[in-house]
Amino acid sequence: MSGKRILFVFAHPDDETFTSGATIAHYSRLSDCDIHLLCATRGEAGKTGHPPQCRPEELAEVREKELQRAADVLGIEHVELLDYHDGKLSNVPTQELSGHIQDYLKKFDPQIVITFPPHGISGHKDHRAIQKATFHAVAQFSKESPRKLYYPILPESIKGTLARAVHTDPDEAVDVVIDAVPYHEQVARALREHKTQNMSVNMVFPGVLDGDYTSLRKKNFFHLAWTNIPESVLSKHKPDTDLFTDIDT
Ligand SMILES: [Zn+2]
Repeated sequence: MSGKRILFVFAHPDDETFTSGATIAHYSRLSDCDIHLLCATRGEAGKTGHPPQCRPEELAEVREKELQRAADVLGIEHVELLDYHDGKLSNVPTQELSGHIQDYLKKFDPQIVITFPPHGISGHKDHRAIQKATFHAVAQFSKESPRKLYYPILPESIKGTLARAVHTDPDEAVDVVIDAVPYHEQVARALREHKTQNMSVNMVFPGVLDGDYTSLRKKNFFHLAWTNIPESVLSKHKPDTDLFTDIDT
């Protein structure tokens, strides 16, 4: 298989846009990069929107459609849902969850995998569970790819610009920075597709639904959590501006 492939593994529909929207838009613009998203739940424990967009029992189906539309806006080619219960991911044995992720690694053979950092950014239990399973799946995989596992993180130095308290990481943990500004319009459109989540969107990115993009992140930051590229080959340049540095595609 030639070309670049990135697999994003998250817990809920909307995690992809909140954490990595600009990065997805950036790489989907390259003709030789395929982007896949594996989402563990349909997000049915979330809110139905303000005003409500559907009845609570319809939320799983509605959020699946919202996710597909947001994925289309950002340029994700393939979306797969694992259909676990929203809010209950930490009850699923890591081995089982990790097995599903490895099945996907076998099928799609991505060089890059991206998931939450161990604290889950917001601290949500599902975010922490999917991180654990994804790290396990990647680190225990028997094939040569994936080559790198990254976590989207928020460096401490931007804490003052964040609308709500979340987990941050030391600035020294930043390995790759992607310029998000060229993709603000696309990210805002994807956020708008997650209609049932308009209250969360307003809380994290105040004003964005009214066309004010000042609260959107100017950069996406990534920490290299795992790699099988030998230390001697690995670029020492930090922060880098490409997730694929040192990988032959
Ligand atoms: Zn989430």
